[in-house]
Amino acid sequence: MDAQRDRLFKALLTAAEHADDAAALTAYLSRLGRGHRKYGTLPTHYPAVGECLIAALTRYAAACWDEAAEAAWVRVYTAISQIMIDAAAEDEAKSPAWWQAEIVSHERRTRDIAVVTVRPDQPYPFLAGQYTSLETPWWPRTWRHYSFSTAPRPDGLLSFHVKAVPAGWVSNALVHRARPGDVLRLGPPTGSMTVDHSTDNGLLCLGGGTGIAPIKALVEDVAEHGSRRPVEVFYGARRDDDLYDIDTLLRLQRSHLWLSVRPVVSDGPTRRLSGQLPQIVRQYGPWTTYDAYLSGPPGMIRSSIDALTHIGIPPDRIRHDSIHELMAG
Ligand SMILES: Cc1cc2nc3c(=O)[nH]c(=O)nc-3n(C[C@H](O)[C@H](O)[C@H](O)COP(=O)(O)OP(=O)(O)OC[C@H]3O[C@@H](n4cnc5c(N)ncnc54)[C@H](O)[C@@H]3O)c2cc1C
Repeated sequence: MDAQRDRLFKALLTAAEHADDAAALTAYLSRLGRGHRKYGTLPTHYPAVGECLIAALTRYAAACWDEAAEAAWVRVYTAISQIMIDAAAEDEAKSPAWWQAEIVSHERRTRDIAVVTVRPDQPYPFLAGQYTSLETPWWPRTWRHYSFSTAPRPDGLLSFHVKAVPAGWVSNALVHRARPGDVLRLGPPTGSMTVDHSTDNGLLCLGGGTGIAPIKALVEDVAEHGSRRPVEVFYGARRDDDLYDIDTLLRLQRSHLWLSVRPVVSDGPTRRLSGQLPQIVRQYGPWTTYDAYLSGPPGMIRSSIDALTHIGIPPDRIRHDSIHELMAG
């Protein structure tokens, strides 16, 4: 229940943050409404949640609660739930609430990283750079996000790079327990870290740890579009051994003249570039004509945003997954 309470609170806070931006608010709530389909949420569930929310506020915010406050909360909750209900209904007409996906290959790359490839039971449309939510049979109703590690493939298979985190429920199940034949559930694709094909700007890509997975997908996407945009990838890891996908990236670099890949190691001895990703990226460039794509742990994303805005890339040309989502894990 604690996790559920935190999620509801986070959703209300995010909605409040976007209160003055109707387009962003509607986009956020619509995504939330579509995402709730995989939990089996029905329109009739919303009033019950609303009643509980108002009852909780009446009890715990007694000091500042009055008729006007209650009327305002009822109005806001009704508007929020209507946007979510409408988005879910619209989505129902075109895609399933979830996909069953059978594991067809499971490849351990390091002690704690596996590449898991699945075959969805129905076509699964997505864009390179996006991510999905995933449920394993061992932790029912526990969903976690994982990024697609390839652009959409002709055979319809989907791959994920999963790192088992200490005491992590889903990641350890996926790395240490999952086998071909096991069936996962996937939610809808989401995320806006996708390639803008309307410009010829170069792509500056920073991938830390398994954050390299969606970056590789972006490289494949650019290759498929046959453009000659420069793509500069900085691939960061703590130690040399943690650069589990470096061979694939160097192979891509050999096939594409427009692609440059620089591995960066932050701790320990290395024959690669040594240091933190943002610090190394600043030694190259200039990057002012590039769009930036960042993927990795929240701390890396934050420090990279700071470094890149400092060297002149406008914030609206820096794409990354939501830091809130990443922190919520
Ligand atoms: C947009 C997005 C995309 C993501 N893509 C990927 C991906 O492609 N590959 C991937 O492996 N993961 C990815 N993640 C992270 C993933 O969603 C899970 O959070 C992660 O696998 C941990 O889940 P869990 O159930 O194993 O751990 P939980 O059971 O949720 O956590 C258990 C414990 O581990 C701690 N913990 C959680 N995450 C970490 C961490 N990274 N390092 C150290 N401790 C941690 C928690 O604080 C907690 O104490 C992504 C997350 C987001 C938001």
